Amino acid sequence: KTGGRLLVVSNRGACTLRQTPGGLEIIPAVSGLVSAVEPILRREGGIWVAWGGRCGQEPGHLLPLPEGESKYLFAEVVLSSEEIKGFYDGFSNSIMWPLCHGFLEKVQFEENYWQLYRRVNEKFARTVVKMSSHNDRVWVHDYHLTLLPALIRRQRPVLSISFFWHVPFPPVELFATLPWAGEILRGLLACDQIGFHTESYVRNFLQAVEEILRARVDYLNSTIHWGGRKIRVIAAPIGIDWREYLTLAAREEIKGKAEQIRLALQSDYVLLGVDRLDYTKGIPQRLQAFSHLLTNYPWLRGKVALLQVVVPSRVETAAYQSLRQEIEKLVGEINGLFTTDYQVPVRYLYRSLTRQELVGHYLAADLALVTPLRDGLNLVAKEYVASKARGTGGLLLSPFAGAALQLKGALLANPYHPREMAEQIKRGLEMPLPEQQQRLSSMMRIIREQDLEWWWQQVKGMSNNAEQPEVAAN
Ligand code: UDP
Repeated sequence: KTGGRLLVVSNRGACTLRQTPGGLEIIPAVSGLVSAVEPILRREGGIWVAWGGRCGQEPGHLLPLPEGESKYLFAEVVLSSEEIKGFYDGFSNSIMWPLCHGFLEKVQFEENYWQLYRRVNEKFARTVVKMSSHNDRVWVHDYHLTLLPALIRRQRPVLSISFFWHVPFPPVELFATLPWAGEILRGLLACDQIGFHTESYVRNFLQAVEEILRARVDYLNSTIHWGGRKIRVIAAPIGIDWREYLTLAAREEIKGKAEQIRLALQSDYVLLGVDRLDYTKGIPQRLQAFSHLLTNYPWLRGKVALLQVVVPSRVETAAYQSLRQEIEKLVGEINGLFTTDYQVPVRYLYRSLTRQELVGHYLAADLALVTPLRDGLNLVAKEYVASKARGTGGLLLSPFAGAALQLKGALLANPYHPREMAEQIKRGLEMPLPEQQQRLSSMMRIIREQDLEWWWQQVKGMSNNAEQPEVAAN
């Protein structure tokens, strides 16, 4: 509707930049946000404003991306070491992330983090204002940049601003523990539309706005009246480009790769886990459930293997370093106890895979274990189903992943309960092939219906409220 360019703003973009003596190195970044937003920006063109992971004082690079294709411009934001500590490691990773995922005991309520969070939001806002003109469409992502809509709005009153929140939105009782909850909500409410993955996150958000800001909330129409404006709040879970996964899964070299992986595992059954290193993903709990399985069903020893991919993440943070140690200790213990002459039960990879490699791993599995303690959505679950759609395979899902609301064909297990998880793994492995196919096709139906294009259509309905000013409602 508005003719301007698309301006995406997020903390991290599709790549990390590294200045080396040989020149600027561009390293692809891995996350659900990147998987969803990058293909849209590639197609629509525009600008992506994000931190490139570099530490310094100098102005950021302006790069056409992807390399050699130049579909959009990457406007790099550079952060100082103090800003990285306070804004990224501090407020974003040690306050917002644990709080939104319900790990209150991990939240470090530090006033200094908040000061730096504000400062970096202002820094992003300056770049956005500099790069944008009045008819552009700004699309801000995630909990790192909650103050941005208000900061931009001050200088660009009629700009269309939309926000997407990629993590869970916690219940108001939890969110209200944040000393800066009101400022954060006020920052967000300067946008025209806010999207979440599920109805329950929407409900939590509306309640928070009503109780903390005393704003007028229309639950029926899912709108908020604030500052003379009307804000739409929608539930729109991110979809995937399922055709790409179907196509990759049909390629001979990828099927060959899957066979090689299976051969190397020397097992009748292959379980698969693919996660960023994060305490929300429930990796130690999954390993314990696997250990439980081998302990309680001894006839499965030597027959079932767990292939666990852990993608390095937030490597500077102490909590993540100790999580890595915990995982590696458990892998060692399980392999020490259950390795036989010809089989090692856990095959563990600590690195990130390319999309092609990932599909090879999906194809190699009999049962994927997506068992986070809490997860905004989880794209791995959808990608796995799309890769397996023409064959067989099972999915064991945690009810605490946003994706569980869509993927009704999955088996469910409480990740906090190793015995239940072990029993469900066993059930998944014993599931007759027709039932596997039927469950896959029921999940595929929703993945097709609510794909990436569907998501984009939902979230791009960015109404420009400035055209229809409301009488102040507060
Ligand atoms: N991914 C990847 N390489 C890997 C592991 C994961 O490219 O080795 C991608 C995966 O395809 C998915 C994303 O990273 O699209 C992870 O998204 P998800 O929603 O599952 O979790 P997040 O990391 O955002 O918490």
